[in-house]
Amino acid sequence: MRGPTLRAAGLVTVVLAGLLGSAFALGRSLVPDPHPSAAGVATPLTATRYGDQPPSTDFPGGTASARPIPDAAPDAAPVEPGGDGPYGALVTTGSAAVALTFDDGPDPRWTPQVLALLAQYGVQATFCVVGENVQAHPDLVRSIVAEGHTLCNHSWNHDVRLGKRSPAMIRADLLRTSDAILAAAPDARIEYYRQPGGAWTPSVMSACADLDLTPLHWNVDPSDWKAPGATAIEALVRSQVGPGAIVLMHDAGGDRSGTVSALQRLLPELVFRFELAPLPVGSP
Ligand SMILES: [Zn+2]
Repeated sequence: MRGPTLRAAGLVTVVLAGLLGSAFALGRSLVPDPHPSAAGVATPLTATRYGDQPPSTDFPGGTASARPIPDAAPDAAPVEPGGDGPYGALVTTGSAAVALTFDDGPDPRWTPQVLALLAQYGVQATFCVVGENVQAHPDLVRSIVAEGHTLCNHSWNHDVRLGKRSPAMIRADLLRTSDAILAAAPDARIEYYRQPGGAWTPSVMSACADLDLTPLHWNVDPSDWKAPGATAIEALVRSQVGPGAIVLMHDAGGDRSGTVSALQRLLPELVFRFELAPLPVGSP
């Protein structure tokens, strides 16, 4: 009876493995693409689709804590001023000043609320704007500039895989975005670029060097794009912020009520503890 028993056990194993495999494939197919815009599919501007968290396995230098492996970036262009982030992107301000950065806008609902809070506390920040949103809301770009904040190019449509596209496509994307910013605010200075998802690649670094844009990363990330709630955002920023910090937050890409509330609670303390300054730009 051993033979048939073993065969039966083997058959059961094979069937189980097949079922598990199917379940796994089904599970994978049910997991939504965390970055649907990356495929270039047009989605409504109101959809939650931006977030500066990289696909962790795709990009070795994609997180603030991850350091680039030197061998992985043999052709990375030297960038001045250098930073300690992925491929040399800036993660600190280089001074004691703390820089607040707001990504993915401008957004007609959230950007005005962030601007009002910053004005209330006399704080200037840096806005990393997305080209298609700039084109849709040029008035908000003008408000940002008029209120003394600085700007950062954050790509045309937040393609987190932009870094893996051709050098020509990367360059065209960055140029199109800068052109849209300048069309909205001709006096704006655009001296920084932030890669969507923090998914930096040597090709992106080369494009930045070519276009005279400083790659801008961050070192404080409350993951507010996941809308974890004001308390969580506030606690993370409070525990991690220090002299020279670059804080990543979002004024677009979803429900940013938590970010706005956290900012409202944090600003009185931050202005007391630190000098808050935008990433500096030169004179026109
Ligand atoms: Zn972003």
